[in-house]
Amino acid sequence: MVRESPAAKQARVRKIIAVLKRTHPDAKLALDFTNPLELLVALILAAQARDDLVNLVTPDLFRKYRSAADYAGETEAALQAQVGRINFFRQKTRSIQKACAMLVKDFGGNVPDNIDDLLKLPGVGRKTANAILANAFGQPAIVVDTHTWRLSQRLGLTTKDDPEEIEADLVKIVPCKDWTKFCHLLQFHGRRVCTARNPKCPNCSINKLCPWPHKTKAA
Ligand code: SF4
Repeated sequence: MVRESPAAKQARVRKIIAVLKRTHPDAKLALDFTNPLELLVALILAAQARDDLVNLVTPDLFRKYRSAADYAGETEAALQAQVGRINFFRQKTRSIQKACAMLVKDFGGNVPDNIDDLLKLPGVGRKTANAILANAFGQPAIVVDTHTWRLSQRLGLTTKDDPEEIEADLVKIVPCKDWTKFCHLLQFHGRRVCTARNPKCPNCSINKLCPWPHKTKAA
């Protein structure tokens, strides 16, 4: 691909966003939640697990445990029994209880609404913290999950491998008002069209905006 100026890349990103909004009008976070605590718990459970499986488990969980103190005060065995269908459930249960204990001790039982405090919580990395800011608090944030990572590279928006460096590249070229939506769009496009092993380039709505429009040929 010929070298692209920052202004040209910004313009291309705006077009990509416009097309993907039409392609995936339903793009949104795939996890169900009604408040920041529920989202924190769902995101911890969703690491390397399917979102639809997490969504099957969380309704009963959220009905039973309504506060950070509820999670922190539960026995490990009882909490594990609630989420035993999800992989790494022992480790994830410990992270939930440790995070909730810190919420009770340091944050009045509330999930903080800033990245510095979120990153202090056990089991919460930058991806989870940004997902909470974006989806529970409505703050613009770039969430670099596996789809954002892969599609940003394929679309020539970054050459980096490190999620924090990818985030830094994307904040420079994606309009701030679209940060959250942009990530949801890439996640949906990555699941439905630009899949890891067999991207459907001939049927891709943004193939004219992609440097690799022939990654797969038409059948
Ligand atoms: S043209 Fe192919 S590689 Fe490019 S975004 Fe679409 S599916 Fe992915």
